[in-house]
Amino acid sequence: MRYDVVVVGGGPAGATAAMDLAREGKSVAMLDRDGRIKPCGGAIPPRLIEDFDIPDAQLVAKINTARMISPTARHVDIPIENGFVGMVDREHFDEFLRKRAVVSGAKRYSGTFVSIDRDDQGPIITFKDKQTQKNRTLYAKLVIGADGARSAVARSEVPGGDTIPYVMAYHEIVEAPEGGDYDPDRCDVIYDGSISPDFYGWVFPHGKQASIGMGTGHEKEVDLKEATRALRESSGLTECVTIRREGAPIPLEPLKRWDNGIDVVLAGDAAGVVAPSSGEGIYYAMFGGRMAADAVLACLDSGKPSDLKLARKRFMKEHKTVFKVLRMMQDAYYKSDDRRERFVSLCHDVDVQRLTFEAYMNKKLVKARPMAHLKIMAKNIGHLTRLIRATS
Ligand SMILES: Cc1cc2nc3c(=O)[nH]c(=O)nc-3n(C[C@H](O)[C@H](O)[C@H](O)COP(=O)(O)OP(=O)(O)OC[C@H]3O[C@@H](n4cnc5c(N)ncnc54)[C@H](O)[C@@H]3O)c2cc1C
Repeated sequence: MRYDVVVVGGGPAGATAAMDLAREGKSVAMLDRDGRIKPCGGAIPPRLIEDFDIPDAQLVAKINTARMISPTARHVDIPIENGFVGMVDREHFDEFLRKRAVVSGAKRYSGTFVSIDRDDQGPIITFKDKQTQKNRTLYAKLVIGADGARSAVARSEVPGGDTIPYVMAYHEIVEAPEGGDYDPDRCDVIYDGSISPDFYGWVFPHGKQASIGMGTGHEKEVDLKEATRALRESSGLTECVTIRREGAPIPLEPLKRWDNGIDVVLAGDAAGVVAPSSGEGIYYAMFGGRMAADAVLACLDSGKPSDLKLARKRFMKEHKTVFKVLRMMQDAYYKSDDRRERFVSLCHDVDVQRLTFEAYMNKKLVKARPMAHLKIMAKNIGHLTRLIRATS
C-alpha cells in the first residue's frame, strides 16, 4: 500500500499533523521510535490548550505567577491575569497526542527512521522496526519530517537541515518539595550568568514533580550539570529526590527552507522552530504540524510540489514578528549580568508584563495604549544606553 503521507516523528508536531490529515480522510502512517521521554519543561499557553483541544486531565499544574529572578537575586512576581500557564508531563502528553492521531485514523509504527529512497511514484521510507530490529519500508506520496531537533529527515532531505544552530538544555526532574520557598503554582525564571551565560535557568512545577534546568549555547565551556546543581542549591531544592536527569538540544533559528521542493516538508524542531528568548517550542511545533498538514493537503490536491512551501509561508505570516521581537530581546538582554539585571528591572513595569504575557498566552501582539508603547520603548533605550540605573 502507498500512504498519502508518512509522518516521521510522533511528538507534538508529528502527532498533530498525523491527526489533522487522518481527520481529512487521508491515509497516514506515523512513525516514532517510542520509549524515550522528551526532556522538556512542559509549559504550554492557553492558546495551545484551546486550539488543540487539550483536556484538563493532561495539565499537571496550572501556574498563576511567573517569578523573574536577577543576578543579584532580586525578583519580580508577575501575576498571570485572565488565565494560567498549563504544565504538561511529556511522558503522558505525547502519548495522548499519538493515541489521538491513531483514533483519528493514522496507522502507528514503532521504529527508527533510516532513509528515504524513491521509485517512480514517490518516496520509500526505510525504518528499523522496534520489535524485530529489522528494516521495513513504507511507501508514501509525501513525507512530513517531524523528528525533532537534529532531525535525520531534515539532514538528509532539506538544504540547510544539517546546520541549524542549537542551545543545549539540561534539566533534572525531582520530587516536588512541600513548603519552603517552593510554590507549586509559580514558575521561576532565573537570569544569572553563573547559571547560564546566554539563556536562563528555570524551576517549573509539575504537580508531584518539578523540572529544574538551564540552557546554553556554550555547552563546551559550561558544565550544564554543575550549573543545575548550583541552581538547585540556590532554589533550596538540593535535598529533593532526583527522578530523571536528561538533556536535549533546542534549535535557535527557523530553517530558510522547510521543504525539499519534491515530496518532503518539515515541522516543529526539525524545521528549527522554537521561540527565541523563551525556548518555547510545543505550541510552535503543533502549529507547524498543522501548517505542514495543510500544505500537504494542498499538494495532494493540486499535484504541485511548490504547495509544500505554504507550510513555512503561513507559519511565518502568523509568527514572524513575535520571533523577531524575541530575538532582539535575547540579543539585547541575555549577554551580561548588567543587562540581565536591567531586564528584570524592566519586568517591574505593568505595561511590559501585560504586553509580554498577552503575546505568550494568546500568541498575538496586542495593541496597547500608544503611551504604553512609547514608555516601554523609552525604558528600553534608557536601559540599553545605561541612562537608567540597572536596579531601578
Ligand atoms: C530541556 C528542555 C526544556 C523545554 N521546555 C519547554 C517548555 O517548557 N515549553 C515549551 O513550549 N517548549 C519547551 N522545550 C522545547 C520543546 O520541548 C520542543 O520545541 C518540542 O518538543 C518540539 O516538538 P517536536 O514534535 O517538533 O519534536 P519532539 O518533541 O522532539 O518530537 C520528535 C519525535 O520524533 C521522534 N524521533 C526522533 N528521531 C526519530 C527517528 N530517527 N525515527 C523515528 N522517530 C524519531 C521522537 O521519538 C519524538 O517523539 C524544551 C526543550 C528542552 C530540551
